[in-house]
Amino acid sequence: MTDKNKTENQRLVDELSQTKKELKDAMRIIKNKEIELSAVLAQAEEVSHIDALTFLPNRRQIVKSLQHEVIRADRYKTLLSISMIDIDHFKKINDSYGHTVGDQVLFQLANTLQAGIRETDMVGRYGGEEFLVVLPSSRLEDASGQATRLCQRIRETDIDIGKVLKITISIGVADFRHGQENWKKFLNRADMALYEAKRLGRDRWYAAEE
Ligand code: GH3
Ligand code: MG
Ligand code: MG
Repeated sequence: MTDKNKTENQRLVDELSQTKKELKDAMRIIKNKEIELSAVLAQAEEVSHIDALTFLPNRRQIVKSLQHEVIRADRYKTLLSISMIDIDHFKKINDSYGHTVGDQVLFQLANTLQAGIRETDMVGRYGGEEFLVVLPSSRLEDASGQATRLCQRIRETDIDIGKVLKITISIGVADFRHGQENWKKFLNRADMALYEAKRLGRDRWYAAEE
């Protein structure tokens, strides 16, 4: 081999070694980016289930839980009840104290509701000032008992917004009718019961009829 060829060979070996090193660095960077991306995706997935104001499960998530529990109750013939909760005259709070205070009220109510249900129950923000509680393995009497306690607890809670404010809630309660309804009809019966609780004077619960 001539000296010229030797030099050329060495140059190629050096170049290959440099390229290998660069490739290794690039692989390491890609690996780190992959880890970052999966952390961001996991966070986004988590956030997409949560209501940004109350930090409760959002509508999509609580409806998903309801659908899941309905399928399970129907298949295994287990008990299932729900409660649809709505703040009484909430518009007045917004009109009197402003939307920001209204938001504070929603946040405090959400905390009180979460603290007032069993660990196996689920509560989510269904709409603006409406909350849905899903009570697996529960009879209508269990859900009604919980509704009595929640109405009382909210009625007696001082909401602190600089001054003390009081609110009340109305609740429509329903128990699942096996083989007779899907989740939509079930939810609709709770909604009708809520409407009845409002009509009867608010600050109370009403149980859905068949
Ligand atoms: P009712 O006793 O019949 O339920 O009367 P209401 O005033 O509570 O009922 P209505 O449905 O007329 O009003 C609900 C109000 O809730 C109107 C809307 O502006 C308010 N609202 C909905 N979402 C939010 C929110 O995220 N923040 C605040 N501050 N207000 C909200
Ligand atoms: Mg409402
Ligand atoms: Mg209302």
